[in-house]
Amino acid sequence: MPSWFDEGLAHIWLPYTQMRTTPPPLPVARTEGTRIHLADGRVLVDGIASWWTACHGYNHPHIRAAVNRQLESMPHVMFGGLTHEPALTLATRLAAMLPGDLSRVFFSDSGSVAVEVALKMATQYWLNRGERGRTKFVAFNGGYHGDTTGAMAVSDPIEGMHKLFAGLLRQHHIVDLPRDNASIASFEQVLERHGKELAGIIVEPLVQGAGGMLFHDAAVLQRLRGAADRHGLLLIFDEIFTGFGRTGAMFACGDVVPDIVTLSKALTGGTLPLAATVASEKVFAAFLSEAPDKALMHGPTFMANPLACAAANASLDVFASEPRLVQAKALSAQLEFGLAPCRKLADVVDVRVKGAIGVVELRKINDLVALKKRFVEAGVWIRPFGNIVYLTPALNMAAEDADVLADAIHTVLAS
Ligand SMILES: *Cc1c(COP(=O)(O)O)cnc(C)c1O
Repeated sequence: MPSWFDEGLAHIWLPYTQMRTTPPPLPVARTEGTRIHLADGRVLVDGIASWWTACHGYNHPHIRAAVNRQLESMPHVMFGGLTHEPALTLATRLAAMLPGDLSRVFFSDSGSVAVEVALKMATQYWLNRGERGRTKFVAFNGGYHGDTTGAMAVSDPIEGMHKLFAGLLRQHHIVDLPRDNASIASFEQVLERHGKELAGIIVEPLVQGAGGMLFHDAAVLQRLRGAADRHGLLLIFDEIFTGFGRTGAMFACGDVVPDIVTLSKALTGGTLPLAATVASEKVFAAFLSEAPDKALMHGPTFMANPLACAAANASLDVFASEPRLVQAKALSAQLEFGLAPCRKLADVVDVRVKGAIGVVELRKINDLVALKKRFVEAGVWIRPFGNIVYLTPALNMAAEDADVLADAIHTVLAS
């Protein structure tokens, strides 16, 4: 290993990692398409697409060229009092793509921050309309909305570490998704009882991602929209995981239109950090006033970074010029076919596929570290967590590579 590796490992602090016991991370020399080239020369077929950001695979030439061009003219400029073409063009394009009147785009630099902005937006919406005390949200077991404290507080109580961080996190109403009679009744009860202190409802549409890759259907979304309307609450869809083709459609919401939507992850095609919180006309209108303090009170330093916006615009070009959603559907069928044999394995309790997401759920994974190591030895990059092994590959992954991933999962879990 080169000297920067050992020296650097003594100074770096890794995510969600017990630094005393976890084996060191693998140094990567470069990425290309759906491959990760390790520093030691090994090449891995990538089943995760870097937390599903690299929806077109790595180093797409069109995105790379756009970022290079932007780098020559203006890598960054502050967004307070100044603006630029990449940001305004991207806002116009996102508004045109999103359903309904989701048309006001607020940029930030990560998914968690986009969620924080959505929560503040919803809370200030009520304050601006003269209703005080609406500061709580209804959110769902199994949900994941990010690692900052506001986002943790609306995530699954266990995954969001509500006990560990009790006192730091705000308390909201976390309930089961309303999908059967019992859960619908308890959801409605919370709305009845606490309606006056609620600002809104936040959910990941169709797929609860990092909380366990759990699927639900559009009927749940319609139910949430209906309930939000009846109780006069704002509905927030966190499409950070699902947005940009992951579930097979461009967005998971379908024709159920939320009041606020958050986007990030695949927004720049896996190139640069960027996020957006997009509001409907109704939400935006509540911030228009002669009173300066009714303005939305948020503004990240690197807001609407031009390089990131150029990457996002180029990624949207690629969605328009390449048959990405058709490829996502083909990949979906392939994951379905390739993972099906896992159903017969002893410890497997469920195999499920939605869009370009494949999940093998086990009764229990005894040794995550060993399992991860065996995947690398099998030539694939797959990162099981909790009790699941999942795939979120580039939407345009070649059929042979998708087979390699599915076969590796079957072989490793069977042995
Ligand atoms: C990843 C994710 C987030 C957080 O995004 P970061 O960029 O990691 O802060 C929020 N919501 C969902 C649904 C996500 O998948």
